[in-house]
Amino acid sequence: MVHVVYQKEITYEELAVEDGIINFCKAKNIKVIEIWGSTLYHKKDIPFKTDSSINDIPNTYTQFRKAVEARAKVRQVLSMPDQLKPLPPGVFIGEIPTLSELGVEQVKKDCRTAFPFPGGESSGLGRLKQYLWETRCVEKYKETRNGLVGENYSTKFSPWLAHGCLSPRMIFSEIKRYERMEVSNKSTYWVIFELLWRDYFKFVCLKYGDRVFYKTGIFNKKLPWSQDMKKFQAWAEGKTGVPFVDANMRELKKTGWMSNRGRQNVASFLVKDLGLDWRLGAEWFESMLLDHDVCSNYGNWNYAAGVGNDPRQNRKFNMIKQGMDYDGKGEFVRLWVEELRAIKGAKIHYPWTLGTHELAGVHIGETYPRPMVVPPEWKRHFGKNKKNKSKIRTAPRPRTGQRGIQSCYQSAKKGGGKRSGRGRVQDNRWGPPGPST
Ligand SMILES: Cc1cc2nc3c(=O)[nH]c(=O)nc-3n(C[C@H](O)[C@H](O)[C@H](O)COP(=O)(O)OP(=O)(O)OC[C@H]3O[C@@H](n4cnc5c(N)ncnc54)[C@H](O)[C@@H]3O)c2cc1C
Repeated sequence: MVHVVYQKEITYEELAVEDGIINFCKAKNIKVIEIWGSTLYHKKDIPFKTDSSINDIPNTYTQFRKAVEARAKVRQVLSMPDQLKPLPPGVFIGEIPTLSELGVEQVKKDCRTAFPFPGGESSGLGRLKQYLWETRCVEKYKETRNGLVGENYSTKFSPWLAHGCLSPRMIFSEIKRYERMEVSNKSTYWVIFELLWRDYFKFVCLKYGDRVFYKTGIFNKKLPWSQDMKKFQAWAEGKTGVPFVDANMRELKKTGWMSNRGRQNVASFLVKDLGLDWRLGAEWFESMLLDHDVCSNYGNWNYAAGVGNDPRQNRKFNMIKQGMDYDGKGEFVRLWVEELRAIKGAKIHYPWTLGTHELAGVHIGETYPRPMVVPPEWKRHFGKNKKNKSKIRTAPRPRTGQRGIQSCYQSAKKGGGKRSGRGRVQDNRWGPPGPST
């Protein structure tokens, strides 16, 4: 007898796929088994109700985390069987189709990527071993996690988590083992702290359903968003004239990867500096990210746009200060914005203020765009050279001798990176009834 086992999804389109498969299986008399498995803490183990009728997941992360840490336990990982039973007679394993058989173009590898790994479970387990046991990078995670260049500033677990190749419980259990056998410190805890953010967004989506996709977000906030497509294109293509934004957006387009620091900044720039509809940004991320996860993506965009669970509603990132703090020598910008490479040091973050000599052949408005906006708060950071005061520490290099930015990778990027998004930005169904903003 053949059974179909699947991991329960949370959001609208994913549930529709589930329904389609369940109906198909019913018609063919195939038994379907549903399991809850994508979160670190099982839905049934957290000290909150998560039914669609009564759901008391708190509206702030800290409340959620404290309660879960105090009153819930992570379930043990299941041990893997040494061998699987053979397939039933008449069932053949088949061939995994190649990209070209699927009609998808092979993407060109970019050797600058911070995510040089292939996909799949073995590679995910290999990365877990590497980040903990081989390089001991986990011991410095809290200090390095805001980095921008190379493979070891953060765990890079997210693509495997998003595709179900690595389970959060497996990561948890390995970190606990590492803490028992090697070191237990703030950094080892902080990886688990971040995994809890992932859980939180999943439970928030379970609570608010489709509202996470609405223009007004889960808290029904009516804000005046614009849908100026020329501005959006400049943002998406990395041609805003603001080097820190452009470097991150070009990295995303070329590799399907962007650091957490980058994601927060480009999201803030889109919504707070350009005033663009946050859903344009969320859809772009959905179509480009290797690690796209509906709940983490839309939850974080709600948060960045001030329509979600951020108690600090008016938080706005300062692109110049952020660039100087986290890319104090301008190396990250130099890596991705080729046309600015000749500009030395931190000045690369505000080229439009520089004189001919410092511009070293760059022509603003010709070889590199003029900035789309220059908010007044940026001005106090021009001319401040924070070259050696970077807020982040460099992650130790892997013992294997690999280095992130120099090693070319086996692409794990999905076909051409142009998967269609939720496709609802122009669609009235997306927002709740009410005046269009
Ligand atoms: C606008 C925006 C969109 C995002 N979209 C996604 C997305 O589609 N998929 C996705 O997995 N993450 C998303 N994130 C969260 C975060 O940026 C990534 O999880 C992280 O950068 C992945 O790198 P890492 O695995 O090295 O993370 P690490 O820093 O090593 O963290 C370990 C793990 O914790 C989880 N995590 C860390 N930060 C967050 C966070 N803010 N929210 C939820 N989980 C988190 C991830 O599972 C991550 O793999 C988004 C963040 C922002 C600001």
